[in-house]
Amino acid sequence: MTVRIDHFIDGARVASAATFEDRSPIDWSLVAEVSRGDATTADLALAAAERAFPAWAALGPDGRAPYLLRLADLVDANVDRIAEAECLDMAMLLRSLKARVIGRGARNFRAYAELAVTYAERVWESNGTRNRVLRMPAGPAVVITPWNAPFMLSTWKCAPALAAGCPVVLKPAEWSPLSCSLLADLVAEAGLPPGVFNIVQGIGEEIGAALTADSRARRLSFTGSPETARHIGAAAARNIVPFTAELGGKSPLLIFADADLDAAARKAAGQYDDAGQVCLAGTRLLVAESIRDAFLERFHRFTDEHVLGDPRDGATTVSPLIHPDHLARVAGFVDRARASGDTIVRGGRVWREGGLWYEPTLIEPRSNDAEIVQREVFGPVLTFQTFRDEAEAIALANSTPYGLAAQVWTSSEERADRVGRAIRAGTVWVNCFLVRDLTAPFGGIGISGIGREGGDYALDFYSDLKMLQILDGSTA
Ligand code: NAD
Repeated sequence: MTVRIDHFIDGARVASAATFEDRSPIDWSLVAEVSRGDATTADLALAAAERAFPAWAALGPDGRAPYLLRLADLVDANVDRIAEAECLDMAMLLRSLKARVIGRGARNFRAYAELAVTYAERVWESNGTRNRVLRMPAGPAVVITPWNAPFMLSTWKCAPALAAGCPVVLKPAEWSPLSCSLLADLVAEAGLPPGVFNIVQGIGEEIGAALTADSRARRLSFTGSPETARHIGAAAARNIVPFTAELGGKSPLLIFADADLDAAARKAAGQYDDAGQVCLAGTRLLVAESIRDAFLERFHRFTDEHVLGDPRDGATTVSPLIHPDHLARVAGFVDRARASGDTIVRGGRVWREGGLWYEPTLIEPRSNDAEIVQREVFGPVLTFQTFRDEAEAIALANSTPYGLAAQVWTSSEERADRVGRAIRAGTVWVNCFLVRDLTAPFGGIGISGIGREGGDYALDFYSDLKMLQILDGSTA
């Protein structure tokens, strides 16, 4: 069944005359006809956000919290429906969508409703004055998100913006617009005032560029590729507007000889989950030379357990890639690696002609400068390299322009601390992966991003800090 997806602007559905097709990666069936927003749509949405701003800001964190809590409850009540839509639309595994990913969206709204209320004002005395730091809502925020985990990643940005008092214009990616469109229905049901939360659809270079170029957008929050971030950063520079960017990664997964090798090798094979379309995935396996064979034996055994298939099937662990263009991009990386002399240790082929699956692939590069080591593939493709000592491990870990995350597998507390400090990355996980507290800072170093999300860090971003300084004894 094909559905129609329209924009949600000023509390109502708005259609564009032009549309684009949204297809399922599972069988390339047509999922939706989607309104293709343009500059006029961007103007409507930002005008609505600007109109809604004064009243939403004036409500204060206490007044805004009930709306966000209602929205959180509605997300919780609709987890299965949203998970099924997102699975059809982007082919993430249904069981993880149902068990954790969509529910995380509800937790984002709930956590920020509560965090904003307790977001402390800073007050101190100096030079005979009382100094107060006020956090003022910044104004309309434009939020632009990628096609992977679109619902959760969007709420991760929209929740702090709304809680801080900023109306939002959200533009989800054109390859997976469905789940964020369902969010619009919940926003209406939760009774958010018109214009506070707008969701528009369309192509990045069209409506995305129009939104980010508009000086009414007082914050630009982006998750996606470094290439697009450069365009958005240029727009932010023109309007002198703060922008935050959560970008791609080429994260190292280091395994030292003192690690729990079974656990580490299992996790390494687990980087193929969701077809490797995970920004945080540890795609560069860096393994101590002395355990090379023992690691590879286990890694192959665990990788053999993967099941490629329909992401709605509970047994599936590797889903199809999002789009034929993306499959071609992933295959292109591997073909170039093969042609340039890198060793394809396993995989390296499309699985079943006509489908969008790619085999879990392991490549041993001829050198650390190889393209397959230095550039994000965003698919089920890992590289394998060995190191002789800790210094070489750190040097290899830090040898790409990215710095989103890292995993360190070791049983030594001292090593965990030493290596954790030395690795250039926004997050370093030791003997674990993807565990995260909502109040922790999240973001990248290098071309993996600018700014931090999470907890107060995100509330700071959506606020203008203002000093109010009162001469002691001058007011009663
Ligand atoms: P992308 O950069 O192609 O697109 C992201 C969004 O930007 C889409 O909504 C797109 O329509 C929009 N866009 C494109 N051109 C634009 C322009 N000129 N102006 C304004 N908006 C524009 O990224 P993608 O392919 O959708 O996502 C994959 C990338 O996202 C990978 O690099 C991945 O690592 C990264 N990612 C990062 C994180 C993180 O938290 N760091 C999370 C998920 C994905």
